Amino acid sequence: MNTAPRAIHHLNCGTMCPRGARMLAGEGGLLATTRLVCHCLLLEGAEGLVLIDTGFGLDDVRKPQQLGRAFTTAIRPQLDAAETAVSRVRELGFQPGDVRHIVTTHLDLDHAGGLPDFPDAEVHLLGLELQTAMRPGWRERQRYIAAHWAHGPHWVEHDVDGEQWYGFDSVRILPGSDGEILLIPLPGHTLGHTGVAVRQPDGWLLHCGDAYFHHGEVQTPPHCPPGLSAFQALNQVDGAVRRENRERLRELAQRHGDDVELICSHDASYLAAGR
Ligand SMILES: [Zn+2]
Repeated sequence: MNTAPRAIHHLNCGTMCPRGARMLAGEGGLLATTRLVCHCLLLEGAEGLVLIDTGFGLDDVRKPQQLGRAFTTAIRPQLDAAETAVSRVRELGFQPGDVRHIVTTHLDLDHAGGLPDFPDAEVHLLGLELQTAMRPGWRERQRYIAAHWAHGPHWVEHDVDGEQWYGFDSVRILPGSDGEILLIPLPGHTLGHTGVAVRQPDGWLLHCGDAYFHHGEVQTPPHCPPGLSAFQALNQVDGAVRRENRERLRELAQRHGDDVELICSHDASYLAAGR
């Protein structure tokens, strides 16, 4: 049966406060800090919990040096144990073991840090992302942190199989469960980057991960603070594909905005909107 999960919780599992508010957020001082979040989702299903992305984990809080000096200096993660996904899960009255499945948009350090806090969960992702993260090239060594999977996660690799969703490739995961969850490949930021679509009672919620960083990018006409555009270009593996996918998301929002709600990982305004 394809239905919506009983509840969808929107969680911030990591705050980052880089300097350069005017360039990154479009307002504030040149050297003022701005606030980015790690927007994760926790779905309550009949068979347990599903976590979508994990933000930073307890090991990152204990050992920030494992994230690398360049990242901690430039992006300034605040690394608070209370914000980790495992603390958020407990705060909601659940146990970490109740999280049966994790779905990751990609394995960048600010999305995969919480994996060690849920060692028994199955971790779903596109096969291409796992292969890239396990054998990173020199450009990718800073973004993928081997400590995040040193515990040996139960990886479940998925690949496109011809299914479509609003014109996008889609891969259904957890068939037979009560919640309908789809991977929507959105490469560009990383090769195996994917969005995650979740049924809501009145349509769909599409978590776009890092396919875009600012809500203005999927509005019409599109706009994005210049520093955030530059940051995305610096961290992309395929710029043309990334921009094409972002444009497809803008068209999706324009045509099907009544059915499909879009969010992305780091724009705090999505979390602030009534949540
Ligand atoms: Zn990210």
